[in-house]
Amino acid sequence: MVRWPYRPKTPRLLPKMLTDSPDRALLVGHREDMETGAPAAKSDPPGCAGARHTMRTLPIRVNPVAEESLDSWLEALASRTSSTWGEILQATGFFDARGNTASYWAARAIVSLTAEQLDVVSHCTGVRPRRLREMTLQPWIKDTSSQRRSVASLRVTGSRFCPVCLRERGGRWRVWWRLRWAFACPAHACLLADTCSVCGGLQRTAPPRFRDVPNLGSCSRVIPQSGQLRRCGGSLSSVRVLCLDNDLAIEVQRELLCVLHAGRVSGGIYASTPVPSAMFARDLRVLGQWMLRHGRAHDVAARISDQLWQQYALRAANDVFRPLITNHGARMTSSSPAADAAIACMAAPILQSADIESAAKSLQWVTSSMCRRGLSPSKRCNYWPGTTSPALDALRRTVQCANDRVGRTRPSP
Ligand SMILES: [Zn+2]
Ligand SMILES: [Zn+2]
Repeated sequence: MVRWPYRPKTPRLLPKMLTDSPDRALLVGHREDMETGAPAAKSDPPGCAGARHTMRTLPIRVNPVAEESLDSWLEALASRTSSTWGEILQATGFFDARGNTASYWAARAIVSLTAEQLDVVSHCTGVRPRRLREMTLQPWIKDTSSQRRSVASLRVTGSRFCPVCLRERGGRWRVWWRLRWAFACPAHACLLADTCSVCGGLQRTAPPRFRDVPNLGSCSRVIPQSGQLRRCGGSLSSVRVLCLDNDLAIEVQRELLCVLHAGRVSGGIYASTPVPSAMFARDLRVLGQWMLRHGRAHDVAARISDQLWQQYALRAANDVFRPLITNHGARMTSSSPAADAAIACMAAPILQSADIESAAKSLQWVTSSMCRRGLSPSKRCNYWPGTTSPALDALRRTVQCANDRVGRTRPSP
């Protein structure tokens, strides 16, 4: 458990991201397999007993790069060996084990790997199970039940990305870019991107096509071109993003990454009632959205940087900022990096307050704005809906009580 805000003496993420670079592929043994074109693996499902012993080790090994996601690494493996996505899934054991498709298992593995999958993939690729697990979302989300709403809401549809990181890392993706609360790159001080500048599509919402050899760092969305469906192929490293030099959003991003990785929060308004990071993330979202909904534009603009405000307003005006809710958990929420950065920059300092009373005082500008619009800050229905943490419930009651007192002391007309 860490206290929040958590500030390590030497920031772990930043120096690592500034210095990492794509590892070179390591050629190892089995040259005869490559020369004779022998199949890379036999076709026993990973869930079956003894599957590990019926799989062959791959003739070429590709080391994961720092913070790389599992799917990115599998694509790098396919690209390095000029294999199709279907061939690499077969060679690493992701195929129909329990009546589901290989794509289903590969998509599920982005969240967490089963013990059998860890064993088989490690055996085939030479990458240790612990390293494989670090490439999934499990260290960030902890409870990886795909059906649980609070957990699924920690992810975005597909993945966001930093174009500069992609260029420097040879098109290899960071695993935490799939988190809802990933909106900025601390290494390059910029807002993350989420769409291709050629086709405008969200990235990594679906696996590559089975017959395609992945092309690292390019858009893999399939779009109609000259009457046929083709891969877009737009360069993602050339997507333009907002520079956030000296912006609060960078500091907030660093702290949120630490909180999500730690798994619990026990600082700020949570000092007496620590909460899991999933609950904290929910508090952050509902409080930030409430502030954005009830605050006046110039009040909001005064609390985030001009550049972030402009980007947020632009996305909202274009109707790109739109929640996407489904009932099945896996891809629950879609937002934009600018909107999530705005929400986090507004709400994080409140949750970080020394106590509930000082947090309530910091929200007086919102309740003043509500009064001007004819909304009563004393009514429960004018606050956030649903279940939040005990600390955020206490904050709501304190704000309501403060407004009740103001109402009682106001002279009657
Ligand atoms: Zn970056
Ligand atoms: Zn594209």
